[in-house]
Amino acid sequence: MATKYIFVTGGVTSSLGKGIISASLGKLLQARGYRVTNQKLDPYINIDPGTLNPYEHGECYVTVDGHEADLDLGHYERFLNVETHKANNITSGRVYQNVISRERRGDFLGKTVQVIPHITDEIKRNVKQLGNNGEFDFVITEIGGTVGDIESLPYIESVRQLRWELGKDCLCIHLTYVPYVAAAGELKTKPTQHSVKELQQEGVQPDVLVLRAEHPITPEVRKKVALFCNVDASSVIESADVKTIYEVPVRMQQEGLDTVVLNKLGMDPQATTAKMDDWNFFLNKLKTATQEVKIALVGKYVRLPDAYKSIIESLIHASAYNDRKLKLDLILSDDITVANAGETLSGYDGILIAPGFGERGVKGKIIAAQYAREHNVPCLGICFGMQCMAIEFARNVLNYQDAHTTEIDPTTTHKVIDMMEEQKTVLDKGGSMRLGSYACRLTDGSRAASIYDKELIYERHRHRFEFNNAFKEEFEKNGMMLTGINPDTNLAEIIELKDHKWFIGAQFHPEYSSTVLNPHPLFVRFIEAAISQ
Ligand code: GLN
Repeated sequence: MATKYIFVTGGVTSSLGKGIISASLGKLLQARGYRVTNQKLDPYINIDPGTLNPYEHGECYVTVDGHEADLDLGHYERFLNVETHKANNITSGRVYQNVISRERRGDFLGKTVQVIPHITDEIKRNVKQLGNNGEFDFVITEIGGTVGDIESLPYIESVRQLRWELGKDCLCIHLTYVPYVAAAGELKTKPTQHSVKELQQEGVQPDVLVLRAEHPITPEVRKKVALFCNVDASSVIESADVKTIYEVPVRMQQEGLDTVVLNKLGMDPQATTAKMDDWNFFLNKLKTATQEVKIALVGKYVRLPDAYKSIIESLIHASAYNDRKLKLDLILSDDITVANAGETLSGYDGILIAPGFGERGVKGKIIAAQYAREHNVPCLGICFGMQCMAIEFARNVLNYQDAHTTEIDPTTTHKVIDMMEEQKTVLDKGGSMRLGSYACRLTDGSRAASIYDKELIYERHRHRFEFNNAFKEEFEKNGMMLTGINPDTNLAEIIELKDHKWFIGAQFHPEYSSTVLNPHPLFVRFIEAAISQ
């Protein structure tokens, strides 16, 4: 069958959960046996979110092929259990960069380079390339931002052109908000009408409307929206607030989103059924767990939980599979001192030390590592968190008081964490990082090897600094074992304490690869240790 292209736009306001709706639709189509990929188009000018502060758009997600991407790709992978790649996330910055470098090469043969057709052609090329080699039955493309934004205009224009070109193989879903005005006791459809008008003005008639609402959409509201927005009532889908995002696919299935989509694309919805057994098994565990597991996430971006999206979701997966309800506290590492560590960190079943960059909050992370080590509290350190574990060990066990990472203190005499020589000369902030999937060999008999039950693993990285192997022998002699080693470069990827309940630091980011159907073993076993007596 020809690849079908589905576009998801948003209106009225941001943060309505376009990413979750897109991922849910993807999940439902996949559960019917179709091959699906999800894509995100971001209208900002940055080439990628790699240089963005997590407070801007939340965490930076990393694909196996080393692309720093929007966090929606994390939702896609967690829901669909398939990997995404660089081509799954495009920004205006990348689109313009490609067009401008072609202009410099003379590719446009003296023509004036314009938004239409050159920028829109480049956007369309990026969408269609996902369907080009017949790998997917459905390409679901989510357009970032809100309809009516100046910066999203070229994207909507590209959708308009693609609908024309692709005809019946293309479908548009528009997600809007239906507010409830308490004083009037009514759901209001006007914002939806306006946002659909805006979309129509830009040349796109949505086929399906998904309405986010905090109150149930009545049949009258449905009819009214259908009438004013040129869609049939059965194509108006309600998306009510739910307790967990993992319930959304099931709700969308009940609402018939997948059925409507298949019908509109001229496919027979009766021909397949969405098999959601594995998904519902997880959902049931998640919803029925009552006993708590208390975890402290120590980090510096705690004001915006989206900054730790993948870590939080991984903890949710792992807790559910351990039949526990996650009670998570995000603790600002800047506030942790030697004097208050006991008071702040006692009472948790496990401590997770978060990744990060720069000096702020590092002291608190090091103190948290010391607290977990000395009090035998299960502890997982990720990336910078692992580096803080190593620094703490060098300072307090090996007695190197000034031990540090050269990221923070370039003049320390004990560079426990340092940059590799070849990386020191790279000036491009996006170019000097170790990004994407790397191999790691696990030491026989180690805790890491028993967790993965494998000898060779692949995990995703995003960092500049590394454990300095000059300290390897001393670390191991004193009980901190290097149990995951990169077979090509000999870099330490996992450290673990021998005499401790559970104390593991990973130089990589396991959180990027935990999915609903494949929870990450490091998180699952961390929670298991946290709940064991
Ligand atoms: N700042 C550290 C480095 O660059 C760790 C990065 C991270 O935690 N992702 O090596």
